[in-house]
Amino acid sequence: MADVYNWQLGRKMSYVFPEAHPQKQFVAIFNINRCIGCQTCTGACKATWTFSKGQEYMWWNNVETKPYGGYPQHWDIKILQMLDEAHQAAGVKAEWDTTQTSDQAPYGVYNGLTLTEAGGANQQALGYIPPDTEWRAPNFYEDTATAYKGDSLGISKEGASLPEHQTWFFYLQRLCNHCTYPACAAACPRKAIYKRQEDGIVLIDQGRCRGYRKCVEQCPYKKSMYRGTTRTSEKCVACYPRVEGNDPLSDGVPMETRCMAVCPGKIRMNGLVEIAADGSWAEDPQHPLYYMIKVEKVALPLYPQFGTEPNIYYIPPRWAPRAYLHQMFGPGVDEAIAHYTAPSRQLLAVLQLFRTTQRMIFRFEIEEGSLVLETEVNGQPWKMYNDTVIGFDAKGREAVRLTVVEPIHERPAERLNSI
Ligand code: SF4
Ligand code: SF4
Ligand code: SF4
Repeated sequence: MADVYNWQLGRKMSYVFPEAHPQKQFVAIFNINRCIGCQTCTGACKATWTFSKGQEYMWWNNVETKPYGGYPQHWDIKILQMLDEAHQAAGVKAEWDTTQTSDQAPYGVYNGLTLTEAGGANQQALGYIPPDTEWRAPNFYEDTATAYKGDSLGISKEGASLPEHQTWFFYLQRLCNHCTYPACAAACPRKAIYKRQEDGIVLIDQGRCRGYRKCVEQCPYKKSMYRGTTRTSEKCVACYPRVEGNDPLSDGVPMETRCMAVCPGKIRMNGLVEIAADGSWAEDPQHPLYYMIKVEKVALPLYPQFGTEPNIYYIPPRWAPRAYLHQMFGPGVDEAIAHYTAPSRQLLAVLQLFRTTQRMIFRFEIEEGSLVLETEVNGQPWKMYNDTVIGFDAKGREAVRLTVVEPIHERPAERLNSI
């Protein structure tokens, strides 16, 4: 085992391979607050990559309803329970020290065990292989809320209000996290899994894979899946031809992936961030993903305590119980929700860029507009400006330009019945 630095944990941790980093990293942000659970993303991935024989139960992208749903069923509850038992056995508490924050440790320091550290002497990391029954229903418990808290007639006299709804659910959008320290790659005895130098995408070499399913066992997110017809494991390929700029539509510049580009809820933004030689993100505050994750800290990793340094980030839902969200996204939840609820002038403009172009945005600029609203949010004064945000693609060309206030176009009277 080698010592590697995990900035999401604010400390070094052990990993099978020595520290090595790609030049760029595939990253995405999902805004949970906006997801409508339509599964268009799920269908787009299935229609593109997993429509063949043996892939029937293979959903590289899935959207599950929390707290009860999961694909495979109960994947996170099971692994959290295993991690909890390991902590109890070791007499260690899974706590975060949030007094020690810095650029290298934006969420503080995690003093608990990662899955690798909890694995013990006999296995590389905690993990399990889900039985077939748990893969059968990809959207089990869809739209199922927690128990209703109201009067006997099912009518709430108080209604629901922030910061926490008593009865709640939310959608969790999931795909492979293209982790910085992939557990799947660490687990593979054939060394069939690799992380690409040019974009940090994690792929399984189908020629080397022998279907031992160690990746299925060790990926805590359960995003490596076994295909019986080929006897190999498969996983999300991050739509790499699009990321490489080889899609016929892309005009030679990196494009967002299929599941990102189709999202009608406009919850997804996907791109590539520059990685410095030491593995940190090269400072780039005009990059929308860098800005939201590193400057505003409005988007957080999923279960950072697992220790794989996942690269899909989430803007947490405003209405779910904070303790649940802290377990899922770590100690940055309160700051992220506060910044999202009363966004800064710049953040509000950048949030408009979600799903406005298929081309990946590498830089944004803002042109200031007029004041359009003065109000209070959480008892504090808050102002809204009609700024214009402009996104630029990998070649520095303008890819999108839009204003904070959506323009209204009135149909001229002579065209009222033109359909
Ligand atoms: S999410 Fe799982 S399959 Fe994807 S890179 Fe991380 S460990 Fe591997
Ligand atoms: S990035 Fe591409 S391969 Fe991966 S889940 Fe999305 S559509 Fe599927
Ligand atoms: S397409 Fe977008 S809105 Fe629809 S389920 Fe997927 S992430 Fe949510």
